[in-house]
Amino acid sequence: MAFPIKVCAICSEEFELRPDKPGFANRCPECTAQESSEPAAKHRLTADELKAQKEVDAARRHAIRDLLYRKDS
Ligand SMILES: [Zn+2]
Repeated sequence: MAFPIKVCAICSEEFELRPDKPGFANRCPECTAQESSEPAAKHRLTADELKAQKEVDAARRHAIRDLLYRKDS
């Protein structure tokens, strides 16, 4: 089965646009992989977001501890 051939918007290489290809339809798999490996480092959390994240983490830890405690007793 043949897939449509597209030209990557980033590197101008031709690639097969497979239905299960992750990422943008106009980016080749190589450029998609490069894009998806970077956002975590690029994204900076604001102070408020960090605080909210810490509260979520604390709540999760507390819930897990409760769960483990209940299992043990
Ligand atoms: Zn590309």
